[in-house]
Amino acid sequence: MFVTLEGAEGVGKSTQLRLLKENLEAQGQKVLATREPGGSAGAEDLRQLLLFGKNPLSARAEILTHFAARYDHVDQVILPALKAGQIVLCDRFTDSTMAYQGYGRANGDPAILSLIEALQKQLGLQPDITFLLQAPRAVSRQRLAARGAPTDRYEQADEDFHARLADGFAHIAKAEPQRVVVVDTSVHSAEQVNAQILKDIQTRLAH
Ligand code: C5P
Repeated sequence: MFVTLEGAEGVGKSTQLRLLKENLEAQGQKVLATREPGGSAGAEDLRQLLLFGKNPLSARAEILTHFAARYDHVDQVILPALKAGQIVLCDRFTDSTMAYQGYGRANGDPAILSLIEALQKQLGLQPDITFLLQAPRAVSRQRLAARGAPTDRYEQADEDFHARLADGFAHIAKAEPQRVVVVDTSVHSAEQVNAQILKDIQTRLAH
């Protein structure tokens, strides 16, 4: 089973991923936790370029680089783990490219959205279930501030960018309600949120 966690920075993705891994393993499941951009040796090299590269790439080149990293990650890490019967938990996947590059950076430009769709289609792997974690921007901003100074070029993006990003994620959730489960992480504790996510995964595993 292939599970992805999505959402903007500061919504609690890494905490939920860690708790999910612990809880699933405690139930005897074999779990691989991984992340994007990155997740394989080559893709981690590309992550450095994407997040900390000296020179900004054009929108299309940035998308192709995200997908180059993703194809490597899928081919070398995710597919072998799925074949071995593991549950794969991935922090970000294609929905992040759609939201960040498609809506955030390219402002929903149809040519850019169809490039992302085509690359996704060719990849041939879709998550079985995606948890889209959300929190009001004031809450996520506070969490990020507590974490320290901005660390990469996206964390420095302005508030308009974040509004387009939220809009992008909302579009995705609306288009694929079967796959995408929206979770508000600002109301309940991290443990309570995780219990809900775990329940959804178990329901899908049972079918
Ligand atoms: O989730 P994490 O904080 O590790 O993501 C690393 C950075 O990459 C974040 O700033 C995120 O906004 C950005 N990112 C992006 N486009 C993607 C995936 C991640 O801009 N497709």
